[in-house]
Amino acid sequence: MAKWVYLFKEGNAEMRNLLGGKGANLAEMTGLGLPIPQGFTVTTEACTDYYNNGKQISDEIKEQIFTALAHLEELQGKTFGDTEDPLLVSVRSGARASMPGMMDTILNLGLNDEAVEGFAKKTGNPRFAYDSYRRFIQMFSDVVMEMSKTFFEGILDEIKESKGAKYDTDLTADDLKEVIARYKAIYKEKMGEDFPQEPKVQLMEAVKAVFRSWDNERAIVYRRMNDIPGDWGTAVNVQAMVFGNMGDTSGTGVAFTRNPATGEKGIFGEYLINAQGEDVVAGIRTPQPITKLEEDLPECFKQFMEIANRLEEHYRDMQDMEFTIQEGKLYFLQTRNGKRTAPAAIQIACDLVDEGKITPEEAVLRIEAKSLDQLLHPTFDPDALKAGEVIGEALPASPGAAAGKVYFTAEDAKKARGKGERVIMVRLETSPEDIEGMHAAEGILTVRGGMTSHAAVVARGMGTACVSGCGEIKIDEEAKYFDLGGHHIVEGDYISLDGSTGKIYLGDIKTIEASVSGNFGRIMAWADEFRTLGVRTNADTPADTKNAIKLGAEGIGLCRTEHMFFEPERIPKIRKMILSDTEEMREEALWELIPYQKGDFKAMYEALEGKPMTVRYLDPPLHEFVPTDPADIEALAKDMHMTVEEVEARCEELREFNPMMGHRGCRLAVTYPEIARMQTRAVMEAAIEVKEEKGYDIVPEIMIPLIGDQKELKFVKEMVVKIAERVKKERNSDIQYRIGTMIEIPRAALLAGEIAEEAEFFSFGTNDLTQMTFGFSRDDAGKFLDSYYKSKIYESDPFARLDQNGVGKLVKMAVEEGRAVRPDIKLGICGEHGGDPSSIEFCHKTGLSYVSCSPFRVPIARLAAAQAALNSRK
Ligand code: PEP
Ligand code: MG
Repeated sequence: MAKWVYLFKEGNAEMRNLLGGKGANLAEMTGLGLPIPQGFTVTTEACTDYYNNGKQISDEIKEQIFTALAHLEELQGKTFGDTEDPLLVSVRSGARASMPGMMDTILNLGLNDEAVEGFAKKTGNPRFAYDSYRRFIQMFSDVVMEMSKTFFEGILDEIKESKGAKYDTDLTADDLKEVIARYKAIYKEKMGEDFPQEPKVQLMEAVKAVFRSWDNERAIVYRRMNDIPGDWGTAVNVQAMVFGNMGDTSGTGVAFTRNPATGEKGIFGEYLINAQGEDVVAGIRTPQPITKLEEDLPECFKQFMEIANRLEEHYRDMQDMEFTIQEGKLYFLQTRNGKRTAPAAIQIACDLVDEGKITPEEAVLRIEAKSLDQLLHPTFDPDALKAGEVIGEALPASPGAAAGKVYFTAEDAKKARGKGERVIMVRLETSPEDIEGMHAAEGILTVRGGMTSHAAVVARGMGTACVSGCGEIKIDEEAKYFDLGGHHIVEGDYISLDGSTGKIYLGDIKTIEASVSGNFGRIMAWADEFRTLGVRTNADTPADTKNAIKLGAEGIGLCRTEHMFFEPERIPKIRKMILSDTEEMREEALWELIPYQKGDFKAMYEALEGKPMTVRYLDPPLHEFVPTDPADIEALAKDMHMTVEEVEARCEELREFNPMMGHRGCRLAVTYPEIARMQTRAVMEAAIEVKEEKGYDIVPEIMIPLIGDQKELKFVKEMVVKIAERVKKERNSDIQYRIGTMIEIPRAALLAGEIAEEAEFFSFGTNDLTQMTFGFSRDDAGKFLDSYYKSKIYESDPFARLDQNGVGKLVKMAVEEGRAVRPDIKLGICGEHGGDPSSIEFCHKTGLSYVSCSPFRVPIARLAAAQAALNSRK
């Protein structure tokens, strides 16, 4: 018979997967002999069984719960529903990874019409007993039966008013009896049955509610944001109640062994005398700092500090503890490794190393890689944020907090910035024309677009906060307003964005600048020591390159050359090239582009100081570059000596039904070889010049995008080689160079062996590879993915977190085939997944040589790569 239920004394901290974090720690503390109200844990496996069983708790599990309950009754010397001294329990969820706020706690379970009398007798405090019962009815109805809280709040307010009571505490025992009667009546009215009087029924309903809560919307979102698999399940902890609201020698509180915001050493927390847990959180009374407990109850404080220190020593990490004092006796209700901000995580990890408590390896493993975002981007002031009203939520496309006035065009954004205003640019979608507006803005909000859309990719590169794909917005860019969450926002109104959570707030919320301390450098240096995976960056400008190197990039893994043409004086030139319909016209336009391109390459090579750079040849889906603005069309017509109608007709001809699968990537080089020729000349000349001028050992890495066949690569490669050799000869240079390809079309992954015969390196373009493997548009998938999460078809955005089963299988296959043909082939990834910790772990395991990500994600990638290496040593 499987064991589904464990008494606290039967478990320990190692059993986290089975007992959940809370259950495992309660068991561990029991083993340490600490004062813990006893109880038992229903395992995470029981939760999985519940789901596998059509959301039923099996008889075997039920039986084990009741056996454990009988044990608990014996241990406490109390029974469920007793009329003299009833056993009351709390029921709380506890997953493997802590998921704060996933489900509310149920307290005082076991009270019914009879037990409340027994409880009143035992405590000698009928008012307290009835108050506990009415709270229980309210909590049970809300959390377990999902009845709206408002029914109960309404009744309480009515009775308070009729009795002339200002606070809940002004109600007498008799008043509370009336509250209970009304609560039970509304329960019956809404639920169609009486409030359950049998404590065992209450218990089983509560256990089921905890299991159910694993799949509520909040939990699904939380899991997606924190990479927690949906099949882990949650455990349920049933624990004997202790009461902090039994007078002035009772109390309850929460405390951390170090400051969770700053990491500063020393106890940090608060408590309330004569209160239950929810009072501390509810903010009705202002809690006291924990140190004041020393004056109120010195013996308890002494014992509390001893245990707190012992727990930190034991777990070798900062602890977050809940405690209750019942009539002078201290109990610990829970301990766990405390959640902390990124600065605190770094401070604590370094302090613990200095205190000799953990090793640098452990320090590196302790810091959540994603949280480093907080160190590199502004965040909201936590106090200011509390008052913030969320009006919408969309994709967290580029991290950081931003607040400013809303503007709807790049030009307005630029102007406002010029006047010293902080700007949030709101667009239906962004295009390269918006680049200056994006630069001017503190934050960008778009109605369309996914995690790998233009706005997202560019914003991440610049380090500007961006929330994208907010389909709920009704926007009128011309009339300059948008509607969201019942609010009408016009140009000049303030909004605030959190690009790390995707939340959109009303008004101007104060932000705090990022700060990077010396300890950050220590952690990063350790990470670099442990990792085996290289970390490069995706950068297209010298400024981004310099920034990425400062953040630790070891080279450029992807220079998207089309981005080099985003600037206002360059865009018309690339448009001219795209719209030209003869080779001569194209060549002429390309000659105008060469100086820019070469100049950029030179500046990039200089910024890199000898570090490698993979230059990807022109790849743009043409729709990103074709002009739409009448003024742009007119200017272009003038420049090309064409009429506006002719330009419009040409644009129309170029319009594609599926631009992402259209005339882009190497297809441009196949149809217009002069593009590849121009780019080769620009790269080679730049590399040779910088090599000679600065003495760096430069080996250009030329990357051909969107290859699907060996012959296709061979065709482009031959042109590249021809020009490269020609330039070498012209310059009398013996510079070496490499030609490789992106693997971003499923066919390329399937035929990677053949392609490797021509390619000296592969870089996995997992943005397109995901798009084409799933058949999901990178720009539009956000619109329907939510339904997939809700239906549990997919757990996360495959454009943000690599789909290891499907896309990952193609990557693995290509790695194996590529290596078999060319054992020294260099393998990297440059899709957005290169900056995502769980995807980086996959890259490490798959044996890639490096990951490449946007500049601000470089530290995250360094840390995640180190964690992957350390975890695979275990
Ligand atoms: C990719 O497809 O993963 C990639 C890096 O190229 P882009 O995003 O420019 O299409
Ligand atoms: Mg691509």
